[in-house]
Amino acid sequence: KQSLKVGLIPGDGIGVEVIPAAKEAILALGSDIPKPEFVDLAAGFEHFTRHGTALPDETVQIMKEECDCALFGAVSSPTRKVVGYSSPIVALRKVLDLYANVRPVISVAADSSQKPAVDLVVVRENTECLYVKQEELKFTENGKEARATRLITERASRHIGQMAFEIAKGRPRKHVTIIHKSNVLSVTDGLFRETVREVPTLPELAGKYDDVTIAEQIVDSAVYRLFREPQIYDVMVAPNLYGDILSDAAAALVGSLGLVPSVNAGDKFIMGEPVHGSAPDIVGQNIANPLASIRSAALMLRFLGYTKGAERIDRAVEEVVREGRELTPDLGGKGTTTGVTEAVLKKI
Ligand code: NAD
Ligand code: MN
Repeated sequence: KQSLKVGLIPGDGIGVEVIPAAKEAILALGSDIPKPEFVDLAAGFEHFTRHGTALPDETVQIMKEECDCALFGAVSSPTRKVVGYSSPIVALRKVLDLYANVRPVISVAADSSQKPAVDLVVVRENTECLYVKQEELKFTENGKEARATRLITERASRHIGQMAFEIAKGRPRKHVTIIHKSNVLSVTDGLFRETVREVPTLPELAGKYDDVTIAEQIVDSAVYRLFREPQIYDVMVAPNLYGDILSDAAAALVGSLGLVPSVNAGDKFIMGEPVHGSAPDIVGQNIANPLASIRSAALMLRFLGYTKGAERIDRAVEEVVREGRELTPDLGGKGTTTGVTEAVLKKI
């Protein structure tokens, strides 16, 4: 391949501050990857308030037709319903069929010869569960009544299950924990749990995952054990909402949301995205941690097969965190977004 075309969707809030850091990290790789080309794409709440649409058709079209991959920053979604607005990230995951959200959570050991205390991957189903956003409000004799549909399909559960086993197979411990609540939700979570469990027994995958061990755990106790003994987890596979919550919780264990990357992965497209949101509380101060965004670029490259480039970025981030001289306030430092980015670029 001659070039690598990357769509950049900074979005809102600190997305605009951290996506340039990821772009710089990719540029710093030189000939380890095909020559990168970047295309700026619009989406988000601010775009909605100015132009009336949160996800312009053009953004989707350029991603589908021209880009090899993309990086997404964050978008702000108001807590109260705004007529005509719907989160563009939820929509993008659907239209590009990015059925898996892969979120590695890894701590940096004080010494490079030590094992990290936390080293797990949350594999989150990315297209269904309560995120189908089918909600209704009724007015009854007893007041308002709200309902939401929670969709779990065999197809999406199998897809995400296979992704989890595939990732586990490539890791030293090769262990998958299925997260569910089928003691209460026996039909929906029951389907998820059974379908994921059956993945290794499918005829077309026979023998492929024999070396992967499987455990399962109810979501609430999984959070409890995650905080008490995170080392028991390797790959955690979960329906959409549980996966969302679990990954923010796991981020707390490694010090900050500002460290945790993700990719939205489908069979045809990969989109990197830091796990955090638009962080309005720190926007515009040049103190947002760019490392989650930089690591998302690395993870995206890894999924595209550019392992060497990905490793150079990951090692640079690790060294900057380990040295601890140039870190943003979320990690207890006095550094800035641009300062941390410079430190990483130097290491790359
Ligand atoms: P958030 O993730 O934006 O922030 C949570 C806390 O973590 C805040 O205190 C914030 O300052 C801190 N934080 C997050 N990223 C950081 C970084 N890189 N460096 C330093 N500190 C960081 O979650 P929130 O405050 O609940 O949500 C804010 C907005 O973001 C909401 O509108 C929400 O809808 C949106 N959001 C978007 C996405 C997404 O685009 N994928 C994800 C989550 C939340
Ligand atoms: Mn989230």
